[in-house]
This record gives sequence, C-alpha cells and structure tokens, in this order.
Amino acid sequence: MPQNLVTSAPAQVRAVSGRPAAAATPMEAWQGLSAAVVDAIADNWYATWQKYNAGRQEHYFSAEFLMGRALLNNLSNLGLVEEAGQAVSTFGQSLTEVLEQEPDAALGNGGLGRLAACFLDSCATLDLPVTGYGILYRYGLFKQLFEDGFQTEHPDPWMEEGYPFVVRREEAQRLVHYQDMDVRAIPYDMPITGYGTKNVGTLRLWKAEPVREFDYDAFNSQRFTEAIVEREHVSDISRVLYPNDTTYEGKVLRVRQQYFFCSASLQQIVENYVEHHGSDLTGFADYNAIQLNDTHPVLAIPELMRILLDEHRMGWEEAWEVVSKTFAYTNHTVLAEALETWEVSIFERLFPRIMEIVREIDRRFRADMAQRGLDQGTIDYMAPLSGDTVRMAWIACYASYSINGVAALHTEIIKRETLGEWHAIWPERFNNKTNGVTPRRWLRQCNPRLSDLLDEVTGSDAWAKDLSILDRYTDAVDESVYDRLAQIKRDNKADFAAWIAQREGVEINPDAIFDVQIKRLHEYKRQLLNAIYILDLYFRMKEDPSLEVAPRVFIFGAKAAPGYIRAKGVIKLINAVAELVNNDPVVSKTLKVVFVHNYNVSPAEHIIPAADVSEQISMAGKEASGTSNMKFMMNGALTLGTLDGANVEILESVGQDNAYIFGATEDELPSLRETYNPVWHYENVPGLKRVLDAFTDGTLDDNGSGWFADLRRSLLEASNEPADVYYVLGDFAAYRETKDAMAADYADARAWQRRAWVNITRSGRFSSDRTISDYAREVWKIEATPID
Ligand SMILES: *Cc1c(COP(=O)(O)O)cnc(C)c1O
Repeated sequence: MPQNLVTSAPAQVRAVSGRPAAAATPMEAWQGLSAAVVDAIADNWYATWQKYNAGRQEHYFSAEFLMGRALLNNLSNLGLVEEAGQAVSTFGQSLTEVLEQEPDAALGNGGLGRLAACFLDSCATLDLPVTGYGILYRYGLFKQLFEDGFQTEHPDPWMEEGYPFVVRREEAQRLVHYQDMDVRAIPYDMPITGYGTKNVGTLRLWKAEPVREFDYDAFNSQRFTEAIVEREHVSDISRVLYPNDTTYEGKVLRVRQQYFFCSASLQQIVENYVEHHGSDLTGFADYNAIQLNDTHPVLAIPELMRILLDEHRMGWEEAWEVVSKTFAYTNHTVLAEALETWEVSIFERLFPRIMEIVREIDRRFRADMAQRGLDQGTIDYMAPLSGDTVRMAWIACYASYSINGVAALHTEIIKRETLGEWHAIWPERFNNKTNGVTPRRWLRQCNPRLSDLLDEVTGSDAWAKDLSILDRYTDAVDESVYDRLAQIKRDNKADFAAWIAQREGVEINPDAIFDVQIKRLHEYKRQLLNAIYILDLYFRMKEDPSLEVAPRVFIFGAKAAPGYIRAKGVIKLINAVAELVNNDPVVSKTLKVVFVHNYNVSPAEHIIPAADVSEQISMAGKEASGTSNMKFMMNGALTLGTLDGANVEILESVGQDNAYIFGATEDELPSLRETYNPVWHYENVPGLKRVLDAFTDGTLDDNGSGWFADLRRSLLEASNEPADVYYVLGDFAAYRETKDAMAADYADARAWQRRAWVNITRSGRFSSDRTISDYAREVWKIEATPID
C-alpha cells in the first residue's frame, strides 16, 4: 500500500540522490517527491489500465501534447498539496522552490497540443476510458531567448535530468516497419490523474530505438562510426518536435514520425482487442474509437487497413467497414497550408504497401463518387490522390464517421468552405465541439486566491468538477465579493510584477491595466495590430502631454516558427517598441511594454491570473477557436476581440456589456475586400502614417535587418500578394476606438469588477469537461468507468 508522502517522499529523495534527504538539492527533492507521487498512484493506475482495456474505449491520437508541469497538477488532483509541503519541510525545503525545478513538458506548439493536454485531464476527471498516444520527443518546443530583440532558438532537452512522470514499458514494445529500416517503438507511459477520483488515465508516448542493440559486425570491422550513425538515424524519429504551427518542413522525417506513432499504437490496440475479444476483428469498432487530432495522425487510416488486410486476412470491404466505423477527425484550422499533403515519392520510399493501400482507397473513392453522379472536376478535387500528392485531410474526411470543427463559427466555415464538398455529400458526419480548457490547471492551480473565493461563495470545491455551478452566482452575490475580487486581482498583479521584474528586468505598476496578448506569433493573430496601437498611443502622448491616459502595461508572449521571418520581424518590432516606450522618461511613467520570453504553459500560469484584458484580435474567420480566450475569461479578464472562433460564444455567454468587440466580421470581409485599399487607410486614418513611417524613418531600429521595412511593405505595397492580407489597417480605427473606451471604463473600478465576475461565473461552457462530455456522448459513445 502507498505510504503517506511525509514518509515516502524522503525515502524516494534518498533513493534518487544517494544521500540523506537533508543534503539533497531542490532538483533531487523534485525528483524524489515526484517518484513518491507515482508510487502513491501505482495501484489505481494499474487497475484503471486493466479496466479500460476490457471495455469500449477511445484512443486520442495526437502528434502534440503540450503538458506543462506535472507535479503540482498531480498533487492538486490527489488532494496532496499540503501533505507534500509538510513532506519537503521535514528535510528543510520549500514546496514552492521544489515545484519551480520542474521543466515544462513542451511536446506541442500551441493551442492544438494544449487542447490535447486539457482533454486528457478532463477524461481522467470524468472517469472516461480514454488513452492518449503520441511521441516522446527528446527535444520539446525550442527555448526562446531574445538577443538585441531578435528571437533566437535553443534546444529543450527536457528529460535530460530524468523525468519521474514517465515509465518505460520495455515489455510492451512494438516493431515499426519501413522499407529502409525496422525500428523499435518503446512506450513511455505518463499517468494522468483526475480531480477527486481514483481513476488514473494514461498518455502513452513512443520512443524510437534501433532494433539491434548494436551492430557488432560493423564495430569489429572498424566501421564503428557507421554503426553509430545508423543508430542515430533511427533515434532521429523521436528526436525533435517540429516547431511549425501550421506547416511542416523536413518532410520525410515528419512523415516517418507520423507513421511511427500511428503504427505502434494501432498494433497495440489491435493486439489488446484480440486478447480480450478474440481474433475475429469484425467487432473492432464496437470496442474502439480513435480520434485524429488534426491530419498529423491520418496515416493511421491506411495503417489499420494494412493490419486488417495483411495480418488478419480480412477482405477489403470488411476491413473498410471496420475502419470507417473507427475513426473520427477533428479539423483545427481553415488555413490552407495546414491541410497536409505529401509527395507520393515519400510514401513509396518509406512504405510502398501503405502507398498501395492509399491508391486502392483512391480508386474506390473515385468509383464510389462517380456512381453518386459527381462530376469529374469535383471527384478530382476531392480524391485522396492528385497527381503526385497524397492529401491527408481528404483521406480523413472519406474514412471518418465524424468530422468536427472546434467552435460554432469554425464548424460553419468548414461546412461551407474548407470541407464544403464533403459536407454536401455527408452532412450527417459534421458536428461542432467547441474547445474548452481544464478549470483545474487554469483556475484552481494557477489562481489559488480566486479559487478560495469561489469555494467560499459556492460553499465547496464542487465547481472544480462542474464549472457550470458558478452560473448560479452571477447575480446572487453581495458587494463584499467584488471587494474581494478587486483585492485578489491586485494581489495577483503584484505577484506577477515581482515575477516579471526578476525574469525580464522590467518594473511595472500593479495598479495599471494589464493588457495581455499571449499566443503563437502568426500574422493572422495580428500582434502587429496591437503593436501599431501602442506606437500610436505613444505618439499621441508625445504630441499632447496633457492627454489623459490610464496607466497600462502591454504584455506579450509568443514564439515564432524559426523559418517564419515575418513573424520574427513582429517580435523584433514589439521589442523595439518596448525599448522606445520603456526608456522614454515621460511616457514610461504611464505605459510599459513587456515581452515575456520563452512563452510556455508555466509562464501562462503566472500571466493569466494577473490579466485585466484578454487580447483576441485575429482577423475574423481565421482563428478556429482559441483557448487562451477561455483561460482569461475564467480568471476574470475581459475580452477585447473580434467576432472570431470561440470569442463569438464568449460574447454570447457574457453579453455585450461584458466584452469589447470590434472590427470587420467574417461575413462582411469578402465585400470589404473588393474595395479595400490599405494605402487609403494609411493616408486618411489619423495617426496611421506616423506609425508606419516610424518603422523605417529611424524611430525604431531593426539593426539593419530590413525586417521593419518588410512589415511596412506587407501592409502597403506587397508585390507578389495582396497587401495587408489580414486587414490590419482596415480594422485599426475600430480597434483604437474600442481599446481607448475600454481603458476609460477601467476607471470605474466597481463596474469593472462586476463585469469580471460575470466573465468568471459564465465560463462553465468553456470547461473542457463540457467539451469532453459532448465527445463522449455524441462521437465516442463511451461511458464513465470508475475503478470502484
Ligand atoms: C492556451 C495556450 C495556447 C493557445 O493560445 P491561443 O491564444 O488560443 O492561440 C498556446 N500556448 C500555450 C502555452 C497555451 O497555454
């Protein structure tokens, strides 16, 4: 039986450090305490695995899981935070310092990967039989530093010092076959605890290793380096997460990665089926559903066909019947570049048998569509194969029984446009599952002050498992609650100011408005619009020193894909604006700009509880859902945003008075575009010319890179593309007006607190528990399976 942490933790610290617990470093204390947590859940974890494997279950395939830190999450879920504090104090350490030792498991790029992590948390909390499958990347998303305001990328070997929350399962390894090599896939399992439940789910991450321990022949015949190179080539497969948010480079390796985790996972799932339900696989889909998180795991479709056809001797029709009842596909973006396509030559080279199966899927698809009376143009457009490319999204749409978007507006757009041809044939496959975030990590853990208030107001911690409870308290609170809320936000801001001073060396005023934009850097997300506003405000203040401006801190966090030069230009620009504003002796008394380097899950947990304003300003129609918008709402920040993604539903929940909405809408944009002339805005919208000229007239320094001139050009006179594709200048006037109004409203503190409270209490529908309950009921057809 597991012991109390007060006794087990020091023992584990001794075991990992080889010295008395009192002599251990904080890192060793983290290692030991984490091992003690795994020890505490081992029996329940095993029981959950056994139970889930016997019944109907869902498997969540995702190339990314942006998990962040695990220790506090687990302690909090298990109700062991106090006990852990006591345990480490017995050997003279503080829990806060111990927790800070943990690296983020950053096995994802942004929203898509973090969504997968929130989903696992909800599945565990709801006792749902769900397992995650992905890749154990040795290097997570690059670490970001700024040098002269330029982003530089550095490796993130997050497991180098050992990571107690994954367990290598040597006995469960599988062989993955490629035309040019065989690779061992070794599963590393991460326990996923839920809040207030004994069930412990699993995230299974596969690591690639050479089949043979070592090529001794090569070694003996003096070809030592060759033997090493061969081993390294195999290890490449799970070496690094691709740092691009939408498109991927290094294509062959990327395809190898995708096949690697799909094949290993499917082999395991099929073997488990045979073990529990016998070797007749016609009933496979009665017990298994597989959710494909975007197109990255779509190779699972032809791979399951291969297993059924070649290893279980099924006929094509029978196998296809199984496959088409197994897979469900989530579309995550309308950006065309993210609908993956691969060269046929890559498939031929890596797995000719899979290519053969894709050709047969294509052949049958074409026959099927012709029989339905589709014209040749439509068939060619929709077919899995086009010339020498394989289209992963089309394979997913053809084979899946469910296709979902991630917010109401996004689902409407994919039905109408992105996947319109598919919707015309199979409308019943389409459904919406608006994203959500886990209120455990994004409220209970990261904002303990607000959590205590919610416990008091509602009389228990039940809201952490059912966030919709809060809705009952929207109006039913007395004035003292708003006083408390004001104090909580003030305390969180003071904590954040101290954290920022230490981390970034910038002093900020906790009484200023904290206006935050944190997300991947992409043109469609329009960090540039925010930067233009700040620069314009700076010039307005310089021009008229008597202008009354509410004190503001503009906070950014964002990584740019290393090859996305224009995004890197925006980072450099924001850092240059920060330099200008923060060093101005007058303006800096009122305004500060802070770019938090290396944005990741843990920084987000520090930033969000301190935010007053949540910037969600993408060009309408481009942000599929967004999830940071939901995290901010839960923590009482007001949304300043366009009618895009889940912002639409946030507005619906809080009402017009409790959010700041501006800008062109998705249905207005096509006609606006017809006459749109950004140069007209530059010349006629007051202030715009001054700001854009400052990009290149020496006001801002891009260190001779030419990047600021490129940004200016992209807005005004792009040559090989339409200028200002993301309508930055078109929306600027409305953005400025709304943001100025927001800042003025902040002066009425009581009114602001009331609106913050409405945001918190109406956030229930944005809990990932709601999203997951909907998937479980409508798509996966699975039920809560508590282990006792
Ligand atoms: C939530 C989250 C995201 C997604 O942010 P969006 O603003 O919705 O794009 C990205 N990165 C991290 C670290 C997150 O926690």
